[in-house]
Amino acid sequence: MQGRIFIMTILKILEFPDPKLRIKAVPVEIIDDALQIIIDNMFETMYAAPGIGLAATQVDIHRRFLIADISAEKNEPYVLINPKITKKNGLEVTEEGCLSVPGYFDSVERADSICVSYLDRQGNQQEEEMTGLLAVCVQHEIDHLEGKLFVDYLSEAKRQKVRKKLHKSRKLQSDSSIML
Ligand code: ZN
Repeated sequence: MQGRIFIMTILKILEFPDPKLRIKAVPVEIIDDALQIIIDNMFETMYAAPGIGLAATQVDIHRRFLIADISAEKNEPYVLINPKITKKNGLEVTEEGCLSVPGYFDSVERADSICVSYLDRQGNQQEEEMTGLLAVCVQHEIDHLEGKLFVDYLSEAKRQKVRKKLHKSRKLQSDSSIML
């Protein structure tokens, strides 16, 4: 018999250019205990990485939900289930990184304010305006759910470079906090 009933699990994060990162996620239909466990494990995985956002796609679960926490104290967890951006405003260029593209950072232009509707982990409908880093993070993670990566915004030449670099140094880690 196992001595422990409940243990958190660090999930394996898929890395570019894994084709599974290109799978488009399907909507979540039931928020059940199994999903709650996956969400807890995703937080464990994201905090350990460390990162500030993680989409289900990145851990090979192809359903539409993501988690985020941009706080320094790691105490403002967000769970966005079936998120939809209903409004975008302004433009902001941020140096982004990605847990699925370790060791690579580049500037990406995104809206600096968004309105997003989603279900929280209790299944309650939420509508929220997000700005700054949280807005960038949520746009980055929603892209993952669509099978899109931040390196898709770069030129093909740059993407080739990323591929080569990742091939050479799989284990390269960065201590930047903007890992999504
Ligand atoms: Zn990412």
